[in-house]
Amino acid sequence: MSTSSEASPPIDDAAVEEGHADYGRIHFRIPKETLQPESEQELAETLQAKAAKGEAVAIRNTGHSTNGQTLTDATQIDISRLAGARFDEANRIVYAGPAASWDSVIRTAQFPRYAPPIFPNNPGQQIRVGGTASVGGVGFYCSKYGGFWNHVSSLRLVTMGGEIIDCSPDTNADLFRYSLGGYGRIGVITEVGVDVLPSKPKILALVLVYWNDETFHRDLKKALDDPELDGVAAQQDLSGWEARVLRVLGVDLKLIVVMREVDDGVDAEAVADEIRDRYDEELTLFVEAGADVTGLGLSRKPELFDKEYVVYFTPSEQSWWSGLWSKILALFGKESSSTVDVEKLCHPWTDCLVAPERYEEFLPGAVEIIHRHGMAEHLEKESFINGLVDIDSFVTFGIKRRWERPEDRLPLSLDLPDVEKFTLGVAVMPNVTRDQLDAGIAMSRELTDHVYACGGRRYLYGTHDLTREQVETHYGRSTLDRWQALKDEHDPHHLLNIGVIEHLDE
Ligand SMILES: Cc1cc2nc3c(=O)[nH]c(=O)nc-3n(C[C@H](O)[C@H](O)[C@H](O)COP(=O)(O)OP(=O)(O)OC[C@H]3O[C@@H](n4cnc5c(N)ncnc54)[C@H](O)[C@@H]3O)c2cc1C
Repeated sequence: MSTSSEASPPIDDAAVEEGHADYGRIHFRIPKETLQPESEQELAETLQAKAAKGEAVAIRNTGHSTNGQTLTDATQIDISRLAGARFDEANRIVYAGPAASWDSVIRTAQFPRYAPPIFPNNPGQQIRVGGTASVGGVGFYCSKYGGFWNHVSSLRLVTMGGEIIDCSPDTNADLFRYSLGGYGRIGVITEVGVDVLPSKPKILALVLVYWNDETFHRDLKKALDDPELDGVAAQQDLSGWEARVLRVLGVDLKLIVVMREVDDGVDAEAVADEIRDRYDEELTLFVEAGADVTGLGLSRKPELFDKEYVVYFTPSEQSWWSGLWSKILALFGKESSSTVDVEKLCHPWTDCLVAPERYEEFLPGAVEIIHRHGMAEHLEKESFINGLVDIDSFVTFGIKRRWERPEDRLPLSLDLPDVEKFTLGVAVMPNVTRDQLDAGIAMSRELTDHVYACGGRRYLYGTHDLTREQVETHYGRSTLDRWQALKDEHDPHHLLNIGVIEHLDE
């Protein structure tokens, strides 16, 4: 595995093209061999054989992590054949192989009859459930249901010694607790029991618009704590002509998108009025369905749309203006050319987690760092008003606290331990060319220092190069001690997924 603290080899574009990189396209490694076990049993035998020879392995799922966690120059184990999912409707659990895509989990749950409480926000839901369980798992509905780790009822693990172990909150509880968010350090997850809930078919989504900072912060806290809302996310635009014009006018525009699941045929107007009564936004807009699930628009009138739009919708940049420009050029027999090949962009993504009481301190500092490194222009964009305006995907989401007693908190989860009601996640997702990568990594490092200084943490699927102190602050000494004891017990020679978290395998 490669981490940014190691000297990275010079970038080999051909190797990156051949899939020896991850989504980040920052690190690459060419494995000496790639094995694709067909079954859990074959995986167990493979790991046992490698352990006997003292050979390191790295587990690869879809490689949507961005820090080289899945890369190795030793043996790569590609688990993509361990897919498949079945539904135990009586207990409302989908049992999924680690390589089952979220799409297959959602369909196996007979969506929209049932749905997992938490589902990621990914185009077509192609990322896989075993990878998500291994890194964390957050989505639109975390403000109501907490993170994905709260909705896993059981796991099956294969250890480096080839043991196959069932675990749950009651059986082999420590293995269960240290696998969720554990980056595959103590075993490979070969089955995930995903809880599902009865679902409603329709959504009403309001976009609450603020230019008063104080009201925004007050209403965001209120919305995150509002039991009537299923999804809450805040958004701010840092770049683009609209943001520049507003900044010149001294307007700091922020949005809160709130969602409520409803049955077919409810009175959208009445539900909208009831929600609006509780908030002090300056302007209200409503989300409306577009032609397909990749397109949502905005309207002045409340409208219900299918929940499928929320589950499958990933609003990517769609500039209406460049579409128009292409059409004009086409009239003259010309093609529009873009100098940027989006497939070749690198992704120094740097999502941060912070307690609500430090958010007002964290946010302006983060915005300043993003601007200073020239990254505001490169943040992932989301299309609004059917591509007329592309807004930076600089999103804040809430993760509800679900544990009562401190000992019930999952130790490697994204929940900050001291929060009273919820942790806030802030997504910072720049997409840059290789020439701009140094600036992106410099931003990532500085944001990382800033979030730890604000008592927060990083979401470690993203780009990072933590100091020893930051790793210690992140997990806390007692969690690290227990995690290392489990590692030493189940992988005594530290061969499985070594280096996924800095300093733990040295
Ligand atoms: C476009 C995009 C959208 C994303 N959206 C979300 C989102 O909405 N919510 C969210 O929480 N995260 C999101 N992520 C972050 C995160 O990368 C994914 O949740 C996760 O990586 C998906 O699983 P994967 O199969 O790609 O895992 P990989 O990247 O392949 O693996 C991640 C880590 O887990 C280990 N691992 C993978 N599978 C197993 C296993 N079965 N057993 C043990 N260890 C394993 C790997 O070795 C590696 O260390 C997103 C990332 C991208 C790039």
